[in-house]
Amino acid sequence: MNFSRSQELFSQAVQLIPGGVHSPVRSFKGLGITPLFMERGEGGNIFDVDGNGYVDFCQSFGPLILGHSHPKVVSAIQKQASLGVSFGTAERYSLELAQLILGILKDCTGEQMQVRFVNSGTEAVMTAIRLARGATNRNKIIKFNGCYHGHHDSMLIKAGSGLAQQSEASSSGVPASLAQDTIVCDLGDYQQVEEAFAQYSGQIAAIIIEPLPANYGLLPQSQKFLQYLRDICSKNNSLLIFDEVISGFRVALAGMVEVTQILPDIITYGKIIGGGLPVGAVVARQQIMQELAPLGPVYQAGTLSGNPLAMVAGLTTLQLVQSEPQFYARLKDKTEKITAIFNQWIEKYSVQVEYKDLKNYHFFSAYSLFWPTEVENKDQASLPSSLSGFSNKFGTHFPLLFKLFLQKGVYLSPNAYEVGFVGSAHDEKKLSKQ
Ligand SMILES: *Cc1c(COP(=O)(O)O)cnc(C)c1O
Repeated sequence: MNFSRSQELFSQAVQLIPGGVHSPVRSFKGLGITPLFMERGEGGNIFDVDGNGYVDFCQSFGPLILGHSHPKVVSAIQKQASLGVSFGTAERYSLELAQLILGILKDCTGEQMQVRFVNSGTEAVMTAIRLARGATNRNKIIKFNGCYHGHHDSMLIKAGSGLAQQSEASSSGVPASLAQDTIVCDLGDYQQVEEAFAQYSGQIAAIIIEPLPANYGLLPQSQKFLQYLRDICSKNNSLLIFDEVISGFRVALAGMVEVTQILPDIITYGKIIGGGLPVGAVVARQQIMQELAPLGPVYQAGTLSGNPLAMVAGLTTLQLVQSEPQFYARLKDKTEKITAIFNQWIEKYSVQVEYKDLKNYHFFSAYSLFWPTEVENKDQASLPSSLSGFSNKFGTHFPLLFKLFLQKGVYLSPNAYEVGFVGSAHDEKKLSKQ
């Protein structure tokens, strides 16, 4: 495979853009090769500037559940573009997407909710946190190790190493004063959550969790733990936030709310909701949402929010998903077949990559390329140990595996811990011949 044009562009890019990329994971850090510059996508495939084609299992990190450039999504965007790409006014396009999403949630939960559209998952979580703080008049937020909630200040916090277990910023530039309002617990650890509520009685605004943690491999949580979080929030008048930026419309139309039948107080969406365009959303009952400006004192705004191009891309995507019978069951079945093929490849390579004890794992149509046997054999309720249980071996061998897959014409997410995604445009029969 020839990557010379990508290499050329990368040397230009590093002059113009820090690290040559607009989001760190795209830099192929640690992979030992320069990033591939992609030029075109079609269905399940992408093509780089050197003309190499790959089956794409990164799928823009999740949004492209119908694959690249679905003809109906493209024509909806084109039609809207000719009518205007942004108004900065009240408009009708967001109403259709709002009705569709809120309808899905109402069918699932019986609750009538409201939505505010924003421009990214990060923005959705940032708004949800501010809303939770404003609505409860409290400051502290509990989050979990191994969950990712975007890159705003209150979420770039990790557990401290000191005796007092004070939280610390996980990024330079985040004030230590802010870190103390975010409490970091381990997934599945009932006692830590219990202790946080005892120690900060009456101060906890919300718990935020990815109900399907999917940013450090896949760490599915037990129903019991998620229900416990629901109950402890209700008991303490704290809010439960489900960050469904990945899981929303991915595991089921109503995401993990549908899978678990647990209703959080606030839900954040991103990724699939915009059909590949930049959209995020915050959803909650009216009683909470009325705290947002212009009705309430919690300020939130956006010049491009509810952007008509993004609204029609999301709407068309979700309508197509909704109209296809058994969409999610078929996607799950396809993912089973594809991950089985991956397992065969991994087994064949395992002599080279020396990780016989690891194999990939999937949950609906998201998969993680590694799932250590020590974790697999455990009750999922004991998943807090899963983070430390992950073998470092995988991180070490991933670069080789990534390149071996590339040679087979398969593009994986370029980081060991990113999950991969199967979409309706993937063809497992073609893959098995590769
Ligand atoms: C991707 C992601 C975010 C951040 O979304 P962006 O659109 O990248 O800002 C937040 N939460 C979760 C669970 C995510 O997977």
